[in-house]
Amino acid sequence: MTIQNNISDVTARIEHAAAECQRSPQDITLLAVSKTKPCEAISEAIEAGQRQFGENYVQEGVEKIQYFSHRNDLIWHFIGPLQSNKSRLVAEHFDWFHTLDRAKIAQRLNDQRPSEKAPLNVLIQINISDENSKSGITLAEVAELAAQVATMPNLVLRGLMTIPAPETDYERQCAVFHQMNEAFEQLKTTYPTVDTLSMGMTDDMRAAIHCGSTLVRIGTAIFGARQYHQ
Ligand SMILES: *Cc1c(COP(=O)(O)O)cnc(C)c1O
Repeated sequence: MTIQNNISDVTARIEHAAAECQRSPQDITLLAVSKTKPCEAISEAIEAGQRQFGENYVQEGVEKIQYFSHRNDLIWHFIGPLQSNKSRLVAEHFDWFHTLDRAKIAQRLNDQRPSEKAPLNVLIQINISDENSKSGITLAEVAELAAQVATMPNLVLRGLMTIPAPETDYERQCAVFHQMNEAFEQLKTTYPTVDTLSMGMTDDMRAAIHCGSTLVRIGTAIFGARQYHQ
């Protein structure tokens, strides 16, 4: 399978999942997660019409953004954990930040965002079900962090993101995603800029779409399995 075929395949799966729950496929953005993959793979995805890419590692992501800087139609999302000493690179280069889980990082990103750039689009990361993960806050903590972000002129609060604990059962995937969707709907009533619920990866995309996801983050199904080197 080529990357182009994979993208058509994933797009068809998104359309099918949307149709199953009477949603419009236009309301679901496909984010291609290109971490660990070379620029040639991203070029192939661009050829196939893909424009939004997700990266997990700051240095690698910035190198790719610079490689493609001759284009102005790509949108880059930072979706990995961020150490505060690397926040400046995210503020200066990325368009979206999915993993906000503390005010200190929000403040740094706000202060470091270049004034000539549009505000950085921010999602608050929720730890909904993964006891082993240190990333993300609880739903009970969202209101306070959202209120802090809302005061920061160089950030715009766009919604919520989650990476649930791995789960293969559809019903159990849905139970978790459903809680996210309720929190998302509630957040929207306070903040008109909130329009994005980032959830769903290669193995739980269908359940995520059925439960209201507006952005799925797909790596493996587009680029193939990842190899990590020591
Ligand atoms: C790697 C990664 C993905 C993509 O996962 P796949 O299972 O390969 O689709 C999505 N979201 C985040 C935050 C990731 O780190």
